[in-house]
Amino acid sequence: MTSYSAAMITGDGIGPEISDALVTVLDAVRDSLGVGITISKHDAGDAALKDTGSALPPGTLDAIKSSDVCLKAPVGESAKDVIVYLRQELDLYANIRPARSFPGMPYLRDDVDLVIVRENTEDVYTGAEIDMGDSGVALRPISDRASARIAHCAFKEAQRRNGKQRVTCVHKSNVMRTTDGIFSRACRRVASEYPGIEFDEMYVDACAMNLIRAPQEFDVIVTTNMFGDILSDESAQVVGGLGMAPAANIGDDAALFEPVHGAAFDIANTQSANPSSFILSAKMMLEWLGQTRNDNKCTEAASRLGSAVYQTVADGIKTRDIGGDQTTLEFAKHVASRLS
Ligand code: ATP
Repeated sequence: MTSYSAAMITGDGIGPEISDALVTVLDAVRDSLGVGITISKHDAGDAALKDTGSALPPGTLDAIKSSDVCLKAPVGESAKDVIVYLRQELDLYANIRPARSFPGMPYLRDDVDLVIVRENTEDVYTGAEIDMGDSGVALRPISDRASARIAHCAFKEAQRRNGKQRVTCVHKSNVMRTTDGIFSRACRRVASEYPGIEFDEMYVDACAMNLIRAPQEFDVIVTTNMFGDILSDESAQVVGGLGMAPAANIGDDAALFEPVHGAAFDIANTQSANPSSFILSAKMMLEWLGQTRNDNKCTEAASRLGSAVYQTVADGIKTRDIGGDQTTLEFAKHVASRLS
């Protein structure tokens, strides 16, 4: 059996509950599909900060670096010291956030299939802020190198998805002429290397509107860090909410998979969280392992896992956030049973 190692951060809030649910599903992936993911659990986040004085203890960082992949549940207030740090430390420059319609969701279109490719290492999220007493300044570094790198990633994603074959570059270069000027020019230059993929541009405010008006018209959106963070929560809601929203953070040498949402303290310890976001993140992990290790078994397992989640929801088995009554673990068991 093929086997890979995954360092799992169980996180804060609903993190431990959706982590247990994912372990249940990955056990079934091993038993039914023959792809073993050996999980080692590690602490990071608010609880780790309280217990050890560090939100990302050195042992956790070492485990992530020595594993094939990292599966990260959400952390709370210490997110900047965990995920923002890991994205920069491991150079996880591409944040891939798909939004795809699932059957029978409240308030959604049933024909959305888009992905947001968000630059993950620059922008105001580098934390370069200057405190000047009763005012402050945030720096927004944007480079041609990082912009071109994420643009290539977006065009390759469009080729891989084989969907509408379109990349939309989202920016605000009419106002932020220097930084978004660099970003949009890099995207335009890279577009010329992919003649088979249509390319267009949209200001971020228009994009926010169009994601509500006609989300089905998008294919791949490439954008800067903060715009991508905000637009991906919006696109998640269009297709059924944050509980269904997975993400991948990809670099040249490492990858980390995590739900789009935060620690959701308001529903922690109630077994009402939707684990689909984390399960679908593991699907993205299997796809990535399939591509980078040339392992067809992983690619097949990813497809089967995606279908199992889709079928579970289509069968009307849902958690509370999407109109059902299943607990976190019950939902995961239903997904697992559809893998055999
Ligand atoms: P962050 O800024 O860290 O992303 P946030 O403040 O945006 O976090 P979230 O923790 O993402 O907040 O939660 C936003 C809302 O979505 C909350 O009401 C939460 O209960 C709900 N929510 C988030 N994730 C899930 C989930 N997996 N299942 C059900 N509801 C969820």
